[in-house]
Amino acid sequence: MSGKVGFISLGCPKALVDSERILTQLKLDGYDISPNYDDADVVVVNTCGFIDSAKQESMDAINEAMKENGKVIVTGCMGKGADAEAIKTANPNVLSVSGPADYASVLGAVHEFVPPKVDGVEGGHNPYIDLMPPQGIKLTPQHYAYLKISEGCNHRCTFCIIPNMRGDLVSRPISDVVEEAKKLVESGVRELLVISQDTSAYGVDMKYKLDFVDGNALETRMQDLAVALGELGIWVRLHYVYPYPHVDKVIPLMAEGKILPYLDIPFQHASPKILKLMKRPGNQEKVLERIKAWRAICPDLTIRSTFIVGFPGETEEDFQLLLDWLEEAELDRVGCFKYSPVEGATANQLPDPVPEDVQQQRWERFMETQQVISARRLQRKVGQTLEVLIDDVDEEGAVGRSAADAPEIDGNVFINDIESVVALGLEPGDMVQVTIEHADEYDLWGRLV
Ligand code: SF4
Repeated sequence: MSGKVGFISLGCPKALVDSERILTQLKLDGYDISPNYDDADVVVVNTCGFIDSAKQESMDAINEAMKENGKVIVTGCMGKGADAEAIKTANPNVLSVSGPADYASVLGAVHEFVPPKVDGVEGGHNPYIDLMPPQGIKLTPQHYAYLKISEGCNHRCTFCIIPNMRGDLVSRPISDVVEEAKKLVESGVRELLVISQDTSAYGVDMKYKLDFVDGNALETRMQDLAVALGELGIWVRLHYVYPYPHVDKVIPLMAEGKILPYLDIPFQHASPKILKLMKRPGNQEKVLERIKAWRAICPDLTIRSTFIVGFPGETEEDFQLLLDWLEEAELDRVGCFKYSPVEGATANQLPDPVPEDVQQQRWERFMETQQVISARRLQRKVGQTLEVLIDDVDEEGAVGRSAADAPEIDGNVFINDIESVVALGLEPGDMVQVTIEHADEYDLWGRLV
């Protein structure tokens, strides 16, 4: 053993994949992962800098690790620019601070402060590194995994500092992505969650370069990737899809059951004026037409989205337009955030901030509107039999998800007939058929078929 590393992973699934890569390499280098501060020779904190509350959580984690252990390496989205300076000022004794996806700096810092050893000898080569599972270290349960297909983003949404932190879009070769997906499937993964900052832009930076997967020529683009992943016989779920016209091309794959009929598209707003201020594409009328066309091709399609209310300049008229659009779009799953300025975002310079009490009222009205829509759409599932992937089994029954539910962010399907659950010996990762008996605005309840 080279030593023990404690690890704190904060933030979104993209940061989680960074953590998995760092942990995988640490294991390859012979380090053990310590679940507590006392045993760890050094602690790595992978931070999140998305919004102020996330930054505060990261700062608190760094402070705690400094207090409890004292040897701390900081990485992630707060490891660049003013945030990095703030970390060093608050904790001058942190060993190293590096930015997101900067694996080399984190590993270099661990090696420097806890040198790798083989049989107690520093710098030796470990002949047993192939004992590492081929899929690497995963922080998700064994039956699902995030598959990161690119890093960075070419857009410049005014509320977002991700391009400053992670740079412009850099896509991974499609052969690498499919190879990783296959290893994950061989290790027992039943659901792949495709993630990036902008999944539909995949391959733009590589000019859709031709690549080969199992002798088949594929272009580095979202449609070809969806086709290749659709051959693996597992659930494939697309996240963070920007509403480009070519998204239309993956809908038939969903209708054919190749990939899950699920699209996570962050629309953010519906008012053309606010979308322009956000520097997002502005034709929401066309988007409504496309949603209708998608549903005509794939009636089971689930659409999840996120929105921001109280953006600078948002009037009551803009907000009402958003509510009307929401009623017409009838999205299935929706998250909503009250706008809050993030240091370094260009939206901070926009005039006409929306007062906090108005933001709060609009958020409540938005959530009330969407809850009625979500409840109505979920109610249609009562009486249907759905395929459900089991996430957890306890003394009350089993909890799983249908094709319409991404882990962590969407609802669950609860199966409370404990006798059947026990009789079948259900375990996480099992796929079962469930007849839905009850629904609320988020979750479903049913019995095993
Ligand atoms: S699409 Fe916009 S919000 Fe998403 S990462 Fe890129 S700049 Fe940020």
